[in-house]
Amino acid sequence: MTRIAIIGAGGSGTAAALALADLPDVEHLEVFEEKGGIGGEAFDTPDQGHLCNTSVAGMSLRADDDFHFSRWLGGNNNSPLQEQFVPRQLYRNYLRSSLENLRLGNSGQQVNITNEKVSKIFIRDTGVALVGSSQNPHEFDEVVLAPGLSALNRPSGITDRSTSLREYNSPYDPGFQRFLQEHPGSVVGVLGTKLSAIDAARSVLAASSRVVMVSPSGQLPAVRKENPLGSPFPIGIRRFKDWSSSPQRFCQGLSNYLAQFGENYGKSELLGERVEESASSQLRSDIVAASEGKSHWQLAVGEFVDLANEHWSELSSRKMFALKKAIYRWIVRYVSAMPLENAILLDLAFREGSLVVHGSDHFIHRGDKKFELHGPGRKIEELDALVWAAGFKSSNWKFDGRSVLELAGDDEEVGALPVSRRLAVERSSGKPLPHIWAVGNTTRGRYPIVNAIRTSVLQAHDLKSRFLAAAPRRFYCTSSASSTSHKILRGE
Ligand SMILES: Cc1cc2nc3c(=O)[nH]c(=O)nc-3n(C[C@H](O)[C@H](O)[C@H](O)COP(=O)(O)OP(=O)(O)OC[C@H]3O[C@@H](n4cnc5c(N)ncnc54)[C@H](O)[C@@H]3O)c2cc1C
Repeated sequence: MTRIAIIGAGGSGTAAALALADLPDVEHLEVFEEKGGIGGEAFDTPDQGHLCNTSVAGMSLRADDDFHFSRWLGGNNNSPLQEQFVPRQLYRNYLRSSLENLRLGNSGQQVNITNEKVSKIFIRDTGVALVGSSQNPHEFDEVVLAPGLSALNRPSGITDRSTSLREYNSPYDPGFQRFLQEHPGSVVGVLGTKLSAIDAARSVLAASSRVVMVSPSGQLPAVRKENPLGSPFPIGIRRFKDWSSSPQRFCQGLSNYLAQFGENYGKSELLGERVEESASSQLRSDIVAASEGKSHWQLAVGEFVDLANEHWSELSSRKMFALKKAIYRWIVRYVSAMPLENAILLDLAFREGSLVVHGSDHFIHRGDKKFELHGPGRKIEELDALVWAAGFKSSNWKFDGRSVLELAGDDEEVGALPVSRRLAVERSSGKPLPHIWAVGNTTRGRYPIVNAIRTSVLQAHDLKSRFLAAAPRRFYCTSSASSTSHKILRGE
């Protein structure tokens, strides 16, 4: 019988718990969560307007049951709910109820949830010992890391944190929401211009404050109507492989393909290095296209992402890298499209002057009391607060090279256990690291395109299969892309 620990009760830890609870030989399953709440980084927001950026169909916690979330929401297997983008808070409730009610398949025993931060893992021949804030070691046979990402991407100009400056980790940070309520009329800098940045902007505008968004591209995501429409013409593996032969062929092929779904999204310049329009005028043309229902491309992209995740690992790494580079910008912009309602809100804010978006020639400095936005050669304005919506670096776990994984201090900027390092450890020692497995955001970097909850769910499923098959115990960082297909958006 096996005793398994999972570190982290975010989407990945919860998906892993659901998958592993079914294993026939699990005697004890325990999830450690430092924050006390279940749901992790991405779904802890009270704002009902903060929607998941993946439709219900792609967010089931069970890889073998696509309708698990939809049924939890009260729908059935044919429900149109599958295509909807629901509030993040609902998804957190789904994570919470799935984990809190989870029982082991063999004994019916409740899965333990322990409110404790794990800071060290001692690897022994026979298993592992976890040490956390309680200082009492917990003994397990296997441990699954699902701690997400913690160190933030910091652009130049910001080197350290200060408690006197108001800086928030994400738009979903409860402290950020409190700040907005208590300080209407503030000027708030948002680092990033993608979907979580749009959520930040939404909250700032609702609090009658001014938003200054900054990102390297200075581009907002495209706009989608509430529901994706109809089914795309299938891309097919043959066509995909043909396009994959070079980045140019890829751009041309995809461009022609998308032309079938509506003029606005097939234009080849959209696939180029940079869309040469300002954020506001681009936004306006996107609003028109979305209002007219030209949103089929979303489904096409969903299918494309699945194919790419399945088949790119078969390409040489050089070719894969070139292709990734060629379409990265494109995927970020088009897969993660914002709801039409948010686009209209931003458009209004642009017109009123309560929203500005800056590109790569602007950066933010830490002033004495406030943050400062600098443009080419001059300070442009002062910011009362700053919110990060710029993505995450890898987790800050440190491996001492022998047998201890340690959580680095908060001031440690560079993640200490990126996948590449772990793989290097595996190679240099010549033998695998036993008893340690990992799922979710902490494994980032192994995935060709997009990391979403579907990735974690498939990783959890893969993990279960490996445990079931009693595969030789080795350090596991992610399922290889070829064994998974994560559906970001679905056509069926
Ligand atoms: C801003 C944002 C928005 C996203 N939106 C979507 C979306 O709409 N749809 C979608 O499909 N995907 C979305 N994703 C991706 C999705 O969140 C992740 O793929 C998925 O939730 C997995 O996250 P995670 O569990 O790996 O990490 P997290 O959500 O970060 O969870 C990790 C958990 O581990 C805990 N923890 C960390 N260290 C320790 C420790 N030492 N001891 C105990 N506990 C610890 C943390 O407190 C946290 O609760 C989003 C991601 C982000 C960052």
